[in-house]
Amino acid sequence: MGIGSGATGAAARGADTPLVETTWEKITDKKLFEMGELALGKDPNAWRHAETPHFVIHYRKAIDAKKVARQAEFYYQQIKSDLQATEDRFDRKNHLFQFEKPEDWQAFVKDAEVQEWAAGFSSRSELFFLSRQHDSFATGTLAHEITHCIFHRFVPHRIPMWLNEGFAEFESGNAYAKFKGIGGGARANARHGPAKFPIQRLLAATEYPDDRSDVSEFYATSARLVRFLITKLDRKRFLPLVNKIVEGAKFEDAVLAVYPDKFKTFADFERAYERAD
Ligand SMILES: [Zn+2]
Repeated sequence: MGIGSGATGAAARGADTPLVETTWEKITDKKLFEMGELALGKDPNAWRHAETPHFVIHYRKAIDAKKVARQAEFYYQQIKSDLQATEDRFDRKNHLFQFEKPEDWQAFVKDAEVQEWAAGFSSRSELFFLSRQHDSFATGTLAHEITHCIFHRFVPHRIPMWLNEGFAEFESGNAYAKFKGIGGGARANARHGPAKFPIQRLLAATEYPDDRSDVSEFYATSARLVRFLITKLDRKRFLPLVNKIVEGAKFEDAVLAVYPDKFKTFADFERAYERAD
């Protein structure tokens, strides 16, 4: 199935998101980061534009943009609810650039100096991707990258790699499953391997591991840790924990400060985490 083709619970899953086509001049938030400027190019009118409550979408074909708008607004609500966030800390809109022609995408990716095999990527609050991808892209990469740029709205700081990737992996499984009405929560994200990347190396990582099999372990373990924090510990305390970490606390110290009733030492936390799956 394509994105959002199911009928049940459609209203709750973003079906009401209106896609109102507008002109570049009329967009309420035209501020772009460097990557967005590059994607927009010299002539903004070469793109079509639309706005939803939280997103500005730049596209070529309305049908594709409609699907993405629904998915993005649905994820926004799901992520806000998973974070138990009452306020959005970002006063701008996320800009999504939906490329239509592979040759335009290749040219952009080259200029942006991104790996050419990438079918989509996010940078700060902006998202860039090639439209009309096969379904595994819709369920995986697109959802993952949308999550990154929405997470940035609630935590507009530098986020440690494991936490950023772990949250994107967790939510892309969780929110997509809910978007399609097929569950989510603790059952989501079963698509990866054993998730046994050493936790101290995970917490300290500032770069992806060199080895490809380590990379998938890194993602799977990051997602497992985030899933544990959100679904097994206390959803309400996840965002306070994240805020402590982005303010500079070590993960170990943040855990003991945020869950003093649950763990006396970090070893207690590690034991609970190991037992959880
Ligand atoms: Zn990512």
